[in-house]
Amino acid sequence: MKITRVNAVASSQRRDKPIRDALQSLDTRGTCEISVETDEGVCGVGSIYFGRVEKAPHTLAYLVNEVLGPEILGQDPFMVRGIRDRLWQLTDYHGTVGLALFGIAGIDIALWDIMGRALEVPVWRLLGGQGKNVPSYAMVGWLNYSLDELKSICNQAMEQGFRGVKMKVGAPTLEEDEQRIEAVRSAVGDKGLIMVDANQVFSLNEAVRRGLVYQEMGCTWFEEPLRADDTDGLARLALQLSIPIASGENNYGKRQFRELFERRAVDIVQPDLRRAGGVTECFEIGLMADAFNVPYASHGGGVHLHVLAALPNALYMESGLLPPNSPVKLVDGCYPLPEEPGFGRSAE
Ligand SMILES: [Mg+2]
Repeated sequence: MKITRVNAVASSQRRDKPIRDALQSLDTRGTCEISVETDEGVCGVGSIYFGRVEKAPHTLAYLVNEVLGPEILGQDPFMVRGIRDRLWQLTDYHGTVGLALFGIAGIDIALWDIMGRALEVPVWRLLGGQGKNVPSYAMVGWLNYSLDELKSICNQAMEQGFRGVKMKVGAPTLEEDEQRIEAVRSAVGDKGLIMVDANQVFSLNEAVRRGLVYQEMGCTWFEEPLRADDTDGLARLALQLSIPIASGENNYGKRQFRELFERRAVDIVQPDLRRAGGVTECFEIGLMADAFNVPYASHGGGVHLHVLAALPNALYMESGLLPPNSPVKLVDGCYPLPEEPGFGRSAE
């Protein structure tokens, strides 16, 4: 089988109401859809999402169509690791990490989709499944929501059967964070999990001060308390707090993750399929984490479900609220594993 065409198409739409975390306002829904075609008629798709910067998907589409795609024409799509290494080498001069890695990730996802479709099995089976469904929680607690809005959306998530919810923290004062956590607790009850996410905004001192309160309030983990590249700070914070420290959605490639594990900077690792570099790279990061006894909780869901279903250390899949007519029915707080070839419906 040979790759005959790589085509990326971008689209972007402004949100009516931007959503906000402690770091940034997400005002756009953008997508760059990368399709890879083969001489045997099997086609795979990798979809890369953008939350802000309207023209970013178009910039990525240009990069894929003009630089990354032409490099892999004629290659065997089953040689995913060879193709991954070739694209890292191609982009090394101007820096692989960043937007180029979004493109490499999109191509990598499309190649796994091709392999699954060609062999008529879901990707998690190709990776070697664990035979377990994946527990899931819903990221619903944006910082721009009022207390009533927060309670209402957390209620909806619990009604859909999620194990718990994630909410943003890092409001201007700790007291506001406490009020918001109390509101969420009133919605999810004693048994519902509450993950708190600061999106990198605290200093080490402030993270200790607020983290002690979050752990006292029974929160499940403290996500991105510090800048993603402050490995030393994360390691120090992890020693000072008993609440697990989670980070990784802004780390690029497995070598950045190696340092997180070696320094014991995270208790839970959260790779993002786009920034980490695709299914191949995320799977390798997950196995490396397992060797360090670090559980893996994906940043985002979708095709990430297949990686989690194959990892021995899968902890949780992050999801949004399910859309009203979603075919997905959570069972005991877990996502059922798809049986369609490739990424099936989880590619959407
Ligand atoms: Mg996060």
